[in-house]
Amino acid sequence: MKYNIILHITTSCNYNCTYCDVVKDGQRISQDVRESVIEFANKNSGFIESFKFFWWEPLLAYKDIEYVCDNLQFPKNYQIVTNTTLLNESIWSYFRDMFKIIFFSIDTEHIFEYQKIDTFIQQFGLKEKVFFNLIISPWQESESLIQFQRLYDLWYRWYNILPVYFTKPWSHKNLESLSIVMKYILDLAHKDHSLKLYWFQENNWYDTSLVNHSLFIDIDWKIYYSDMVSTFSGRALKNSLYIWDVKTIDLWSIELSKIQDYKKIISNLEKSLYSKVSWQLQLHKMMDYFSIYLNRINDQSI
Ligand code: SF4
Repeated sequence: MKYNIILHITTSCNYNCTYCDVVKDGQRISQDVRESVIEFANKNSGFIESFKFFWWEPLLAYKDIEYVCDNLQFPKNYQIVTNTTLLNESIWSYFRDMFKIIFFSIDTEHIFEYQKIDTFIQQFGLKEKVFFNLIISPWQESESLIQFQRLYDLWYRWYNILPVYFTKPWSHKNLESLSIVMKYILDLAHKDHSLKLYWFQENNWYDTSLVNHSLFIDIDWKIYYSDMVSTFSGRALKNSLYIWDVKTIDLWSIELSKIQDYKKIISNLEKSLYSKVSWQLQLHKMMDYFSIYLNRINDQSI
């Protein structure tokens, strides 16, 4: 079994999104942890599928990213998720050389500089590496569709469509409006097979977690089973989702049977959140429905 490793390199962010559920306490990976992570990853390279810098704004600790990547010794399947604000020429060229997949997160709360970013993507030959995380908030559904259309018109074809979970209430009206947006994008994906929708097509089932089936190395070198531990909704699960730390565990020794237990813990948390607020369950069901819808129409067209 191979794992996708997510490394938390900083717990700071230069944005303050109103839908943010992430605990921001301004830490940065220490030199000691950095070295231990590198040693751990090199020792376990045979069990690592990809290595991703994610959560908060990783480019705030760009020098640490550079250091880690430069010292890892396995085939370079590095990925990063960024809000794009801290990009400069040297980072763009590092993206070209080191990263296999780059996720740009965009929402309706911040200005996204389409032309500028597009120019850099073209200049550095990154078109085949870029995914857009399109974050959709309630009451902003149509604006998100406009964002999608602008990117689509610029010939971008890879997306995560991410309605905000757990932090903003979705009224019936919002869900209806979201379903119109989803149907538009999925019908387009049915006609245009170059359009790739992460999660919808990968899993044939929608998952609220951005990074399921991954292991998380936290800023203090502890390894957790889920990204939920980074959020206000899930931080109470730190003890139950804690696997071990990078100094003392090897990936081959993780008991696969325990993974089922971790999945159960996450599913119970989701259920308890769903029972508190009914629209969360409705939103999840709707996204499941569209995932099946897309895969069914694709199957029928074969
Ligand atoms: S949602 Fe992401 S980009 Fe926005 S404030 Fe939170 S960590 Fe930063």
